[in-house]
Amino acid sequence: MAQVLLPDTQNPNPYAIAQRQFDIAADRLCLDDRLRQVLRVTKRELTVHFPVKMDDGSVEIFTGYRVQHNLGRGPAKGGVRYHPEVSLDEVRALAMWMTWKCAVLRLPFGGAKGGVVCDPKRMSRRELEGLTRRFTSEISIIIGPDSDIPAPDVNTDAQTMAWMMDTYSMHQGYSIPSVVTGKPINIGGSEGRADATGRGVMYVVQEMAREMGLALEGATVAVQGFGNVGSVAARLLHSECGCRIIAVSDHTGGVYNPHGIDPTEAYHYSRANGSLRGLPDSEPITNEELLTLQCDVLVPAALGNQITEANASRVRARIVAEGANGPTTPEADEILAENGVVVIPDILANAGGVTVSYFEWVQDKQAFFWTEEEINAKLRLLMRQSFQEVLERSRAEDVSMRTGAYLLAVSRVAEATQLRGLYP
Ligand code: GLU
Repeated sequence: MAQVLLPDTQNPNPYAIAQRQFDIAADRLCLDDRLRQVLRVTKRELTVHFPVKMDDGSVEIFTGYRVQHNLGRGPAKGGVRYHPEVSLDEVRALAMWMTWKCAVLRLPFGGAKGGVVCDPKRMSRRELEGLTRRFTSEISIIIGPDSDIPAPDVNTDAQTMAWMMDTYSMHQGYSIPSVVTGKPINIGGSEGRADATGRGVMYVVQEMAREMGLALEGATVAVQGFGNVGSVAARLLHSECGCRIIAVSDHTGGVYNPHGIDPTEAYHYSRANGSLRGLPDSEPITNEELLTLQCDVLVPAALGNQITEANASRVRARIVAEGANGPTTPEADEILAENGVVVIPDILANAGGVTVSYFEWVQDKQAFFWTEEEINAKLRLLMRQSFQEVLERSRAEDVSMRTGAYLLAVSRVAEATQLRGLYP
């Protein structure tokens, strides 16, 4: 949903950041040099340029990517994003983060990501369908239900997945629902998938609040980004935990009310008006101001590189729960740690989405479907267990939750690689 929120000068290269985060863990684990060389880079990268017929009859050429970082623990898994700022390095970083995310949650997947450079907000539904179908066809040489399973990400949704599933199935001659996750429910999607990432954010915030002795009833929350992750996290933190949502934002800017915003009303307002701007009983604020509001919990749930060395010292939240991928730079991480701000890292905090994607894939494979109650209970269990494992590791080694999560993830992937040995 969100577009670029900060100028390019503040957008460090995400792949370089992902590699630095990996290096910190690899150093601490004294990882074997050859293993380090393998895990530090992506395994397979496909770049495609493809034509799409536009509504005015013209033909436009688009560029897209599908990158697989690691397949050691299972088929590659990860979303597809549509955004004008998509780049190969961004997709590489996102693929690597998916590997660690799946390993933190012990899901039997490796990591992948895809992206198309486009501005979906300026394209019609028909053009988006054409783009999705041709992109799927182009990457069909590496995706598949047992090799690489796409899902929604920024600016893609259940409808996008329906077109991808249909296109892939048309190639094969029969329906293959398990080739993508995040589908509409009546073509093999899972109950609970649409809310899963935001719900997972709520579960880890609950865990962290309990650890810190912070009562969530009445706790103040600011949420950057009001797409599939931010809007759901805001709604659930409000309705299930009694939090006071003091600010929310989208790519056009934010709205603030110290007495609380009703996230469900905000959602209906933003869908009806195309943005949150002008929400009744609220004051406008910028995305930048939202990040530095005094609050108990800050949920960055838009794009990457939002909390940087330029603003980290002004972040006044007690807990930062990363709903987005890569919202905090390594420099900002250090500043936040010095200031006692606890960060629940992306590869844990936003893992609810891929966890229910895993449930969806398993259900598709069995052709047997579970209830929403079962899904949410299983999600809660996995998120809580993983949270506790990450917390324990970070306490045992006196490192941040991010480094704790990386230590768990990298050692699991490294072990899988070693167990499998060298081919040939
Ligand atoms: N795009 C989501 C993520 O970044 C979900 C990926 C998936 O479900 O495969 O985790």
